[in-house]
Amino acid sequence: MSDLKISVCHLYPDLMNLYGDRGNIIAFTRRCQWHGIETKIQSVTLNQVVDFAEFDFIFMGGGQDREQQAICYDFQQVKGTSLAEAVEAGVALLGICGAYQLLGRYYKTGEGEELPGLQILDVWTEAGDRRMIGNIVEESDLFPGRAKTLVGFENHSGRTFLGPKVRPLGRVLVGYGNNGEDGTEGAAYRHAIGTYLHGSALPKNPWLTDLLIAWSLERRYGAVTLSELDDEIEERAHQAAQRRAQETWGKIKAGVK
Ligand code: GLN
Repeated sequence: MSDLKISVCHLYPDLMNLYGDRGNIIAFTRRCQWHGIETKIQSVTLNQVVDFAEFDFIFMGGGQDREQQAICYDFQQVKGTSLAEAVEAGVALLGICGAYQLLGRYYKTGEGEELPGLQILDVWTEAGDRRMIGNIVEESDLFPGRAKTLVGFENHSGRTFLGPKVRPLGRVLVGYGNNGEDGTEGAAYRHAIGTYLHGSALPKNPWLTDLLIAWSLERRYGAVTLSELDDEIEERAHQAAQRRAQETWGKIKAGVK
């Protein structure tokens, strides 16, 4: 058993959790356990003041417009400064969909209300007149070595566009991605990732989980090479999700409902 430890923050677990997003916390902590890394999880919600630099990994799930409106003031006024400082200090962060949108400059809802974001990710989002729903596959070059595919499920009306200070998480192979137009999905800046991958994302994308674990360790322990795990089941789930995406997307393209 190594003496490596990761302190995890689950942000707004009571309000921001769509399509099983809390499964990312389960997958992250279980994979840490398999790597012999101890984790400690703290849930943080409305009106709680924390120093986010005390954490190594911060996770925030997606939410519908009304949940985003419910947390927006607190996210800005109570959490924002400390969260932005933590990301600059190298804390790892994963934000899904509604969380991703509020990590950017702003999210303009379907009713035209502009919710201010934390400006942590150089992106902006405006709701469009169609929902982008379905299984998605993308290819990411975020991983050292070679490009890897990522799979998930997306459901958003927000169209996100990237500014010059972020890189996309991946290039869409099947699905809509950030906006259904420019072929990008997600955004990455330092050790922070925003993505539309619900699902939950991490169980079927073990290499993304390992990347986040390595990033979570780096600040306190330097670069850590994680042990190889038997990912046969994760690989099979990943391939099945890819096949399902290709089948359903083919039907959507052909106009079959
Ligand atoms: N409410 C946002 C949208 O519709 C985010 C939805 C979500 O988190 N799945 O784009």
